[in-house]
Amino acid sequence: MADRRVTGERASRGAPATEERNEAGTRPMGDVLVSARGLEVHFPVRSGGALRRTTGVLRAVDGVDLDIRRGETLGLVGESGCGKSTLGNALLRLVEPTGGTVTFDGTDVTGLDRRAMRALRRRAGMVFQDPFASLDPRRTVRQTVSEPLEVHGLRSGRRERAARVAELLELVGLDPAVADRYPHEFSGGQRQRVGIARALAGEPDFLVCDEAIASLDVSVQAQVLNLLRRLQRRLGLTLLFISHDLSAVRHVSDRIAVMYLGRVVEVGPAAAVGSDPKMPYTQALLSAVPVPHPSLERTRQRIVLRGDVPSPANVPSGCRFRTRCPYAFEPCPDVDPALQPVGAPGQLAACHLHGVVGRPVEREEAVPAPAD
Ligand code: SF4
Repeated sequence: MADRRVTGERASRGAPATEERNEAGTRPMGDVLVSARGLEVHFPVRSGGALRRTTGVLRAVDGVDLDIRRGETLGLVGESGCGKSTLGNALLRLVEPTGGTVTFDGTDVTGLDRRAMRALRRRAGMVFQDPFASLDPRRTVRQTVSEPLEVHGLRSGRRERAARVAELLELVGLDPAVADRYPHEFSGGQRQRVGIARALAGEPDFLVCDEAIASLDVSVQAQVLNLLRRLQRRLGLTLLFISHDLSAVRHVSDRIAVMYLGRVVEVGPAAAVGSDPKMPYTQALLSAVPVPHPSLERTRQRIVLRGDVPSPANVPSGCRFRTRCPYAFEPCPDVDPALQPVGAPGQLAACHLHGVVGRPVEREEAVPAPAD
């Protein structure tokens, strides 16, 4: 049976794409598919010894407001330990949020029971960082890719499942003849393609790619990035692309969100955030990206941040970036800056250098429609 998604029919399932366009004006942008409001994932910090008393709170995700629009790729970038993987997991409830809400296609998923959650998980897949660790070495590619089909009851007969596995392998650029091989017989890039085929087996609308290229060679990274872009357009997927590699994020994303110490500190169209960032932290991240031009690379000004990233168990008061910010001034230790519109349409930054100190942002302002 032909995959209706491959023909593009399923791309329009749910609410239709609006007339809004991404920042390049090349692709229709949909309504909001996934939304987080005040999302928190806090873990107790326990002392050693027999009593294991709770001595503090580790704020891995600490009050995130974020919208992901149907059909877009949102790049989520930040240093290791900033909470971006935890946020991706919390959106799928692979870790339980301790506060706030996550809405998927209009349904608040934070209150769903296991059965309802399983039905919803079919519509949301995950591609993991390490394709070797995420694939069971004792299972063939066929068994690995067909497992979600069995779990979600998508193909009842063996022959139907085998045909669907072959279709999925072709979709990710693998020869269906490899279906009976084991993960150790593949290169890293091929294993990641198997992981993507498995993630697509449930016919998801939403895919979280968590550092999906981080463990691959540079040449293979480009292939996998291009594959993800092709799949997204062909299947009408909504992607959350999580990476510490800002150049990769710029390459694939329609919009970029920047995380620091459990909080989104800047978000906006990829072109705006990539060329004119408003938050000093984003500016520092961008200054570290090499420029692929010899003379420009020689003159590149690197912003070197002082000190280390504070512990998420000991978040600074006021602006959480203030201990490393070269522009920190009088209100920064006392007032936690809210995301507010700055620069280009749809660009928001949490920094007192822009706008009124401490002024909260209304929801309509926080998620403005991209310009036509
Ligand atoms: Fe720097 Fe203050 Fe802006 Fe934070 S609010 S990024 S400390 S200038």
